[in-house]
Formats: sequence, structure tokens, C-alpha cells
Amino acid sequence: MAVRLREPEQAAAREIFAPTDPAPGWELSRFRPIRRALKSRLFQFLAILPNQVIFWLVILTGVLGAADPTRNFATVITWYIWFAAVFLLMVGVGRGWCLMCPFGGLAEWVQRLSLWRRHPRALTLGRRWSRTLSRYGLIPSLIVFVVLTWFEEFFNIAGPGRPVYTSYLVFFIIALALVTFLVFERRTFCRYLCPLSGLIGTVGSTGMVAGFRTRNRNTCLTCPTKDCMRGSERGYGCPWYEWPGSASSNLMCGLCSECFKNCPYDNVGLYLQPPLTSVVKPVRRRWDIAVVALGLLGIVVFQQVNALAPYAPVDAWLNRTLHFPGYPNPVDYVGIVALTMAAVVGYVAGLRAVFARPSSGLRAVGAAVSRPLARAARWQALERWLTPLSYGLIPVIAADYLARQLPKLCDHALRIVPAISDPFDLGWNLFGTAHSHLYSVRLLPTSGVVHVQMAVMALGTIGSLYATRSIVRRDLSGEARRPRFLTAVALAFVAAVGVALMLLYAAMGGAE
Ligand code: SF4
Ligand code: SF4
Ligand code: SF4
Repeated sequence: MAVRLREPEQAAAREIFAPTDPAPGWELSRFRPIRRALKSRLFQFLAILPNQVIFWLVILTGVLGAADPTRNFATVITWYIWFAAVFLLMVGVGRGWCLMCPFGGLAEWVQRLSLWRRHPRALTLGRRWSRTLSRYGLIPSLIVFVVLTWFEEFFNIAGPGRPVYTSYLVFFIIALALVTFLVFERRTFCRYLCPLSGLIGTVGSTGMVAGFRTRNRNTCLTCPTKDCMRGSERGYGCPWYEWPGSASSNLMCGLCSECFKNCPYDNVGLYLQPPLTSVVKPVRRRWDIAVVALGLLGIVVFQQVNALAPYAPVDAWLNRTLHFPGYPNPVDYVGIVALTMAAVVGYVAGLRAVFARPSSGLRAVGAAVSRPLARAARWQALERWLTPLSYGLIPVIAADYLARQLPKLCDHALRIVPAISDPFDLGWNLFGTAHSHLYSVRLLPTSGVVHVQMAVMALGTIGSLYATRSIVRRDLSGEARRPRFLTAVALAFVAAVGVALMLLYAAMGGAE
């Protein structure tokens, strides 16, 4: 029986016949206990539940708990522990956080009218994301992240500042998720809008979990039901609109295991992969991921530059000149992000001008009859180089974000011990630790933090050097003249980026 798929299922199905990586890696779901856990409908519910409890506690304690942010449960767990833990999860597991995320989790429970069972009806208007917007992939997620980061800096939320601001921020993300789930179908929010999705998808491509993939693709090609995408009485159709038969990276697999439960042929497995596989080897690279990666680099460079003492007068001068009330001035914030992105685009354009074979791209430009078409053709030609070379920077960007979290983690993570004993500032001593001396104990001295930051950045730089070398050989050697020289120049650029970011950490001296 022929099966008619709906958009955006069709969009995924269009990729069905594109070639994929035939060997996704090592199958974790071969082990019976893991298999049994993944088959259970309780699997994702139990992963989300503890975080759901913690984040509602964060909302409540941010409003009702201690005014001192260094003793408040909400600020301590969110900014000293959670943010660093999420980055560790991304670098190690990819979308591991998305499996247990309370934001999408709560909204999905409401949308499905069920905590874990398969419910036949859904509470949603079931709208589809606009086709025009879907061309921009995760760029809306980057924009929301850029805006929220600016608000976070302006109100010093992660400083941490007033605990109630942390409650507002978490509540805002949950409310945004809920509204989007009630209007749009499935996990449209996660696929396009969530402020963390672009970050997790990009940084997470360094991770070792490949996601759920099909065991035998031929079975999928002749499969009459496509239950993994459409759903069945055993489970929901893929909430992320992924098709395990065509996935060639871990970018969009939320690890929910619905396809694993659904497949009538037991043809889906959970796979591990060597680190950086999803950076180096995706069959289809996405230009929106390149834009997200460069935007993320710009944000973290802004944060590093602003942590330098000599930069404070510049920001203050801009605020005085533009009559803006306080740090960070939006002009230098957007300016540094845009300049960082432009610098990488300029470098790639230069590389292309020197090394591209005359035929690659120019033919397309020549064929274009009008100026807009010629411009589009030129952009396409540049994009063919910009996208893979931006993927090569992902490991160093991931390391940069991880290194940025280390001072708070190392200096203050143990403050959770007293904070947890009296979360509502009522004089409780629930675990006998309310006055623990661990409040002022650091996991590492400042010099140790800087050394660990350097080590993390060195690892990230090595990862980017390896990825760039592989990517140039794999994606660009056919388009380039003197590919060896091209590889050397590309590696020199990556090394320069890594060293510059390391020097910034040295100059910051462990600043938070
Ligand atoms: S994309 Fe965002 S809301 Fe969705 S699961 Fe991941 S972190 Fe949560
Ligand atoms: S239901 Fe199973 S066999 Fe059919 S397309 Fe999906 S993964 Fe492949
Ligand atoms: S249904 Fe499968 S492919 Fe889709 S997000 Fe869940 S685990 Fe990943």
C-alpha cells in the first residue's frame, strides 16, 4: 500500500534516497537492559521527571528563597552547576540534555495530554512551521539565543544577580515552549525556536552518541508503514521530524526513542560513534549550522573581550555617547558578534579567491543572466566553502563555551551544599549542611582554573585542526587548486583562532 506523507515528513522523505553513512558506529541498544529501557514508554518520562522537579524548584526558590544569589538554590544550581553540566553533556553526548529537558518535556506532556502513554489526541492547533522560515533552519534559535544572552548580561542574571531574574528567565523559556507546542505540531519549538537548540545541535555534533539509526537501510526503503515517522499504537511519530533511515549526524535526534518503539521490523538501534564524527562526516552539511556556529563564536568572543579590564571604559564610553543605561551596550554586543562572523566569512572568501578552481562557481556566475541571480550564484559558490570550513571550527567553539563555564563551576559549585538545606530561606537545615564550610571551598585555585581552561582550549584546537584537515580533504579537494597548500593555510587559520582564544583566557585570569 502506498503511503502518503505530510509536509514536513515529505521533506525528510525527500532525503530518503540520498546516500547515508553505511556504518553509524557501535550499537548500544544490543544490550538487553538498555533495550528494555528504550522500549518502555516510561523511558523519557523518567529522564525528564527529576529535572522537571528541579526546575520548578528553581522557579519557586528564585522568587521565595534567599536574596543573596550566592546562597540561593535557584542561582547556585543554575549558574554554578547546570550550565557547565549541560555543556559537558553536549560535548560528550550531543543532544543528551534534550532527552531529559524539562522545557520541551513539560510542553510535550501538555500537548500529548499524557505523561508517557500513547494518547490518541493532541492539545495543539497543529500548525506547521512556515516553509519559508524552515529554510533558515536553526537560525531563529540563534537569534533567540543572542537576544536572551543580551538580556542575561544586561540584568546580570547568570552573574549571578537577583535570584528572581533566574526564575523569570526559566519561566519565560517554559512559557515560550508551551505556547509554541500548543500552536505548532510536534517539537517545532525544538527544531526551530528553542534558544538552546542551535547551541546544543552545533556543539553536540562533537559528541559520541550518534542517535537512533536504522540497522538495515534496505528494509526502510521497502517499508510500507514508515511507523517511525508516522507513529503507531506503540509510539508517536518522530517529534523532531527525523527519519532514522536518512540521518547522517546527531544534529536533530532528540534521543526520545519513539522510533525504536515504533519500528515494526525492529530495524532501529541507538548507536555510539567516535568523537567529532558528526562534525567531519555528515553526508549533508547545513548552511544554517555554519551560521549558528559563527554566531556562537561571536557571542563567546564578546563575553571574553568584555571580561578584560581595559574593555570596560570602551563599553562605558559607548553607553555615555548613546545614552544607554548600562552594560552591555547593544552596539558593541551586536558589533563584536557581527565582526567575528564577518572575519571568518572574509577569510573563507579570501581562501576561495586564491584556491578555488576557476570552473567551480564561476561557471554558475557566468550562467546567471541578471545581477540578483549572479549575486545568488556567487553566494552559493562561497557557501560551498564557508559551510564545511565553519564546521571545522565547531570543536574549538565547543571548547570555548566549556572553558567559559569553568571559573563558576570550580569556584562556587560546592555552594550547592548549604543552599540545598534551606532552599526557601526559612531557617531550615534539611540535610544538616545549611552552615557548611563548603560554601567558601573552591574546587581549584584561580591558577588551576586558568590551566584547565588552557587545556580544554588546546584539546578543542586539536579537535578543530583534525576536523578541518579531514573536511578540506573530504569536501573541498575536488574544488581546489593545490589542495595541500589550501590545507596548510586552513590549519594555520584554525591554529590562530585557537591561540587567540587561549590568550584571551590567559588575559582574563580566571574571570567569571
Ligand atoms: S531543543 Fe530546547 S526545549 Fe527542546 S529538548 Fe532541547 S533544550 Fe529542551
Ligand atoms: S518503521 Fe522501521 S523499517 Fe520502516 S522506515 Fe521506519 S525505521 Fe525503517
Ligand atoms: S523518534 Fe527517533 S529519530 Fe526521532 S528524535 Fe526520537 S529517537 Fe531521534
